[in-house]
Order: sequence, then structure tokens, then C-alpha cells
Amino acid sequence: MAIPELAKGFRMVLRHVFRRKETVAYPEVRRQPFPRFKGRHVLDRHPDGLEKCIGCELCAGVCPADAIYVVGAANTPEHRFSPGERYAQIYQINYLRCIFCGLCVEACPTEALLMSTEYEISGDSRASLIYTKDQLIVDAPIRRHWPTRKELPPDFNITGGGLSFTEVERPPVPIPLPTEGVSGPFEGGWSGERDTASAFSDRGPRRED
Ligand code: SF4
Ligand code: SF4
Repeated sequence: MAIPELAKGFRMVLRHVFRRKETVAYPEVRRQPFPRFKGRHVLDRHPDGLEKCIGCELCAGVCPADAIYVVGAANTPEHRFSPGERYAQIYQINYLRCIFCGLCVEACPTEALLMSTEYEISGDSRASLIYTKDQLIVDAPIRRHWPTRKELPPDFNITGGGLSFTEVERPPVPIPLPTEGVSGPFEGGWSGERDTASAFSDRGPRRED
């Protein structure tokens, strides 16, 4: 019997058995990731409520996983969604493909696209992991400081109209927003009745998910 090896093993066990536990009782306790953790995307707004996204598709072009689908459209005096000429009529991120590299955030010229620290991205169907613009865009402009070393309350959740930061750091800010043309029904793209072949027919052959 290798007594030295046994002693070594017992010493290792004793060294760790009295240490502070690193595990938490998830999901009752949720750890807040580091502030620069790359999680679920969000689309930001300007302080006046207009969308920062101008539908330029640079994020979609740079994405190595082909996970972003954008269709731009022109703003009109009656229906203005962003300060520029164009806005994203359709914006989808396919989390079946996304590798959370952050290149899309780097490419965005208007800082419209950000990655939050939200990491609970799961679904019971493939379609539920294709996030639409309604799910991605925030209700109010983001204040770019996340609290650190703070555990999120168990009831923190993503609301239907976008990320709600009210549980974390501030009360909601009511903003009058244009509504026509933003919410669906989306045509083409990944969501709803998916038809990826037609959605990408102008972008060459595609891989299957
Ligand atoms: S994080 Fe990377 S893989 Fe995910 S959508 Fe952005 S560029 Fe594509
Ligand atoms: S998120 Fe940024 S890069 Fe992507 S379409 Fe909108 S403005 Fe362009």
C-alpha cells in the first residue's frame, strides 16, 4: 500500500473540506456575472426613445456564425423609428447559432447593439431561440453600468417587451414610442413560420442549423 499517496490524498481532502463552498443553490440564488460577460443581446434606444439601430446590417455581415438577420426599411415623416434614414424593420438573432463572440457589437456604428449579462437562454423549441426585435429592444435607454458582486433576485426575468432593468437598477421610464411597423407579423426570416431558404436566398447557400 502506498502510504505516502494515501496521506497525500487525505491531506488534499482535508484542505478543501473546510473551504468556503463555491456552489450556489441555483436557481434560487443566481450569480451576477462579471460586468463584461457576453450574454444575451439587447438593442438600445436614444434618450428620446428613438431606436439606435439604423438597419445597416453590419452586425449581420460580420457575424461569423450567420446568426443575425436584419431587414432595413426607410423612415418616413409619419413613421419615424430611428434618427437616420433607415431603421431595422426586422431584426432577429438566432441563438441556436450565436457563439457569443461579440463581433456584432464591435461592428455596430451606432452602439445600438449590446450584450447584457443575462445568461439564461433556453427554450423548448428551436423557434423560441430565435429572438425577434420585440424581444431584443429595450423599453428605455440603457444606463451602461451594471452592478457588480450582486446576486439577481430570483424573480428577475425578461419581460415580453424587452429587457426590464427595473429589478436591477432603476424604475421604468415611460417613453412615447411609435408602434406601427415595429411589431410583426414579420415576413421571412427565422421567426414564426420559418423559411430560412427564402430569407437568405440572396445570400448564397446556407448551412442547416
Ligand atoms: S455574438 Fe458573435 S456569433 Fe453571436 S450574433 Fe454576435 S457576431 Fe454573431
Ligand atoms: S444593430 Fe448596429 S450594426 Fe446591426 S443593423 Fe443595427 S445599427 Fe447596423
